[in-house]
Amino acid sequence: MFYRLQIVLVFLAPFLLLGVLAAFGLSLPVPHLGRGYVIRIDLPEPGAPVALPQIFGPRDPSRPLVVIDAGHGGHDPGASGGGFVEKAIVLGLARALRDELVREGGIRVAMTRDDDRFLVLDERAEIARQLGADLFLSIHADSAGDRDTVSGASVYTLSARASSEAAARYAARENSADMVNGQSLADQPEDVSAILIELSQRRTQQESSEFASLILREGEGTLVFNPQPRRSAALVVLRAPDVPSVLFESGFVTNPDDAARIASPQGQARFARVMARAIRIYFARKAGA
Ligand code: ZN
Repeated sequence: MFYRLQIVLVFLAPFLLLGVLAAFGLSLPVPHLGRGYVIRIDLPEPGAPVALPQIFGPRDPSRPLVVIDAGHGGHDPGASGGGFVEKAIVLGLARALRDELVREGGIRVAMTRDDDRFLVLDERAEIARQLGADLFLSIHADSAGDRDTVSGASVYTLSARASSEAAARYAARENSADMVNGQSLADQPEDVSAILIELSQRRTQQESSEFASLILREGEGTLVFNPQPRRSAALVVLRAPDVPSVLFESGFVTNPDDAARIASPQGQARFARVMARAIRIYFARKAGA
């Protein structure tokens, strides 16, 4: 009988202790998020070949291939505000665009991620390069902190010198996606911009620029653009030297109108129609050149 009581007491002891502490208004120290908190992240092996995604659309390898890159993912949510998270919004936009392109046919499509996973920036460009993509489109959304009037989409291409202070700050934010607790997850040189431009060929930059202009032209009147929609900056994700690459910043999650628009099925369908048209015109021009 006494033995049973001992067993019961052993199980109850922690609760009794907590109860006594609570009665005296005390609590046990519990670890909080912050310094010293450990997040476990599954990373690709250094130097290992990147896993190449499925290619949708026609089997004919002579058909043009566009790689759509939904930014962020996994432990990296990207920008957030008003209950919206960038990584989920941009995956929705990317899927809508893929489906639109596949439905209309004639163009091959691959996505760097089709679920909630994390990829370092280099892997994204590397997937496009290894698939021999003809075009790379990275899709993002931005945050303006508590300035909820800042709104509208913008289109970025690669350049050593940023087109504005805001563009430079944006690139710094986006390039830090590879950083966790101040540590880089990728082998990245300190002076990103110098290396980027060295790598990117002039012709690739010219084609990226043409595609960026097409997005603005086709989106006019349908998409809501920022007052300064055409931007450039040293964005690591656009570094593939031989694949024309553009980053579409779809709007601000911190602006309620933008967030509701780019997160809604209607807004995503509108984006997909405009972007698919810009992509088709771009490829038609290339084929005719
Ligand atoms: Zn982003």
